[in-house]
Amino acid sequence: MSSGRPVGAATRLLHAGAPALRDGSGPVNVPVVRTSTVRFENTAAHADYHHRRAAGERIASYGRHGLDTHRALEDAVTDLEGGHRAFLAPSGLAAISLVLLALLSPGDHALVADSVYSPVRRVDQTLLQRLGITLEYFSPGQDDLAALIRPNTRLLYLESPSSLLYEVLDLPQLTGIARARGVTVVADNTWSGGWFYKPLALGANISVQAATKYIAGHSDVMQGVVVVDSPALAAKIGTTHEALGLAIGADDAYLALRGLRTLPVRLAQHQRHATQVARYLQQHPQVARVFYPALPEDPGHALWQRDFSGASGLVSFAFREADEAAANRFVDALAYFGIGASWGGYESLALVAQPERLREHSYWAGTAPVVRLHVGLEDPQDLIADLTQAFGKAEVAREGQVGKRPLAVA
Ligand SMILES: *Cc1c(COP(=O)(O)O)cnc(C)c1O
Repeated sequence: MSSGRPVGAATRLLHAGAPALRDGSGPVNVPVVRTSTVRFENTAAHADYHHRRAAGERIASYGRHGLDTHRALEDAVTDLEGGHRAFLAPSGLAAISLVLLALLSPGDHALVADSVYSPVRRVDQTLLQRLGITLEYFSPGQDDLAALIRPNTRLLYLESPSSLLYEVLDLPQLTGIARARGVTVVADNTWSGGWFYKPLALGANISVQAATKYIAGHSDVMQGVVVVDSPALAAKIGTTHEALGLAIGADDAYLALRGLRTLPVRLAQHQRHATQVARYLQQHPQVARVFYPALPEDPGHALWQRDFSGASGLVSFAFREADEAAANRFVDALAYFGIGASWGGYESLALVAQPERLREHSYWAGTAPVVRLHVGLEDPQDLIADLTQAFGKAEVAREGQVGKRPLAVA
């Protein structure tokens, strides 16, 4: 690393925040430093820490600020996203709320892609509206962003690819329009885990992630991260982070850092398996459409090829003819795909997308049920066999139930 030659991203991710050796030896991993109280040698040292922290230095004068474990994770995530500084939050949604509360004030207006993670709308309805902040939802693919920006528009909030249907946005174009008008751009980068998509390099000012998903990667941690591109934004986010008293446990910071070390290999495998599952679904007679930007047939494929270096394990598909009951029977029949929210762990999951969530997206024009799969690290032939038997059961059950309707055909 001292040769002066640029170091690869995986090498940096594996070594970021590694503890220094003491007295000639030391552990590979950063220790879990748990504490509420930080002790000081004397009152002068205590006062000095307070002053240095108030001046913006990343040091802890109290446990809430996080110690070595937190700092190592922040450094690794900052490097991963190519940012200036990272902040940790107790969940992905807390990270999103932190950003919105830090950057928006009464009377402000923000533009939000209509395909975002839907609990963002709940933050809007239950919190931001009460504070006199207006969020306006728009279609990044259909609406003219420049025409929607008002004199009081402070923020553009995007997620690419979008939740549920993976609509790929033209981030450089959208960020260019926003930044030329002084609008701060926030991108939710959970889908890529920060590994194969770099919103900050494409013009966003802030990248937020649910570290709950791919960063932690083992379905055992709730966590959010916010990475900012400048000292000015770090000051704004830092002040609100402190005011809200956001803190995460050192054990959770440790687990996220541990997950981060294997992010590149896990994601490469998720992509390999998801691509096989997506191709299988594409040729299945009961499937009308597969949503996965790595497929050449996906409308977002060209943008994905231009701006991304990989794809995740999320694959959604729309049934050709099934009603919601048949979609539920399909998911209920799956053996290896667990039924549950969240994703990004090593295991496969399946959910029937709620129709009211799909209707929020102008990208969605259909009426058939949509199933979201998270394709995990199990052997893909087992997953495909599982899907095959579940399609069979959904079909047979439907035949028995509504005998008059014809079977779905290609
Ligand atoms: C899951 C998710 C979140 C929220 O993360 P939590 O840790 O579950 O609060 C935010 N954005 C996206 C895109 C997500 O999928």
